[in-house]
Amino acid sequence: MIRLAVISGKGGTGKTMITAALAHLFCGSLVLADCDVDAANLELILSPTLIRTEPFMGMKTAVIDPALCVRCGECGEHCRFNAIEYLADTCQVKTLRCEGCAVCTYVCPASAVTMQPRQTGEIKYSETSRGHLVHARLVPGAGNSGLLVHAVKKTALERDGTCDRFIIDGPPGTGCPLISTISGVDAVLVVTEPSVSGLHDLRRVVAVCRQFRPRIFVAINRFDLDAFQAGEIEAWCRGEKIPLIGKIPFDPAVIQSVREGNPVTRDGTSPAAQAIQRLAANIEQELNRVGNQR
Ligand code: SF4
Ligand code: SF4
Repeated sequence: MIRLAVISGKGGTGKTMITAALAHLFCGSLVLADCDVDAANLELILSPTLIRTEPFMGMKTAVIDPALCVRCGECGEHCRFNAIEYLADTCQVKTLRCEGCAVCTYVCPASAVTMQPRQTGEIKYSETSRGHLVHARLVPGAGNSGLLVHAVKKTALERDGTCDRFIIDGPPGTGCPLISTISGVDAVLVVTEPSVSGLHDLRRVVAVCRQFRPRIFVAINRFDLDAFQAGEIEAWCRGEKIPLIGKIPFDPAVIQSVREGNPVTRDGTSPAAQAIQRLAANIEQELNRVGNQR
């Protein structure tokens, strides 16, 4: 199995649209994972049929037993995250603020605090026309998106580990969810856009990826909106010896296909669809090379 993560340094670059199109075009058996768990939207394009849902238990959080609490104030005194709330006759933990450090359990003189698991999301396992999709939903305000990403990948590998390709729609940014996404992948495709911030975020995400040593490829989406910035990105990739394997033009057909919930490559005649077909051929070639080198 070859594992490919499609990522971007910033949101709104068209990463999910490209992931869906690659899934549509790639040969062989696939398993897909949407690791953008804070805003999972691959399902909007791939129209999956839900097979099952499982709860996701994030890290443990503190719970105060009001029957034991003597309101001494020690827990609030020592909680660095301001997660303890004092009420008229008791005190309680503000769960969205609790970072699970467990300090309060050590300082409580009445043994009134325990650490308990809390459901912070759910993992969904679905069927699409191109293979199984593992996706997730995080409870609004809940943390642990890196842990949830890890759980999504683990589910995909446990259930469909014999597929030829594992395609991951990654999160934007360079934080914990990205690190969880790219750990253990063979290759990353960074989707960027021709802007100053696009190049800035591309540099940052590539710097993070290099710590994990996957093959790195770049594609510029809507490259024709700013020829100068697209040229800057091309020059930077050349200087860094990173293959620029796709340039996709701005195309209203992309917006239309997303609205209809279809990969843009389903009707392969639009300029963007044709550019993504070339991108898919290039990346398939590169992934086959990765497979041959094993
Ligand atoms: S576990 Fe840590 S963060 Fe949570 S309430 Fe206790 S001291 Fe505060
Ligand atoms: S330290 Fe224990 S007894 Fe004191 S306020 Fe907190 S929970 Fe209640």
